[in-house]
Amino acid sequence: MESSEIKRIQLIERQNRRNAESESILDSLGLDYQPSEHLILESADNVTLEDKPAKCKECSGKGKVKSLFSEYECFSCFGIGYDLSDPVRIMKWQQLCMSWSKTKIRKLERDLHIATTTEAERMEQGMNEFYKDIKKNHFRGD
Ligand SMILES: [Zn+2]
Repeated sequence: MESSEIKRIQLIERQNRRNAESESILDSLGLDYQPSEHLILESADNVTLEDKPAKCKECSGKGKVKSLFSEYECFSCFGIGYDLSDPVRIMKWQQLCMSWSKTKIRKLERDLHIATTTEAERMEQGMNEFYKDIKKNHFRGD
């Protein structure tokens, strides 16, 4: 048996022991709590940028629901606009989107820098950047 499997079993045993020894706070307060289906998290593998999550059925992806006089946050997706039945998959997809965007922005910044400066200016900036710390530490002028 793998050590991670042994640890997992030990953890479950410890949780069961703890639950048996101490009364649930919800029970002691007389509250009946049923976890919603949104709180059950499962791991999601092989998520790619193309795996755009399905839109929320209640608000059709708008994140807001209109009533007669006002507009309020969708109660089903909490204003996110996606079907939250697999939240881990959505978070992983959003993470991929963020890193794609960062890469894109860095490339555009680089392209803009190249388009707006000459090679000599870039060389000078590079040299200044390289010697910045040395100048600061050794050539104070006093
Ligand atoms: Zn919604």
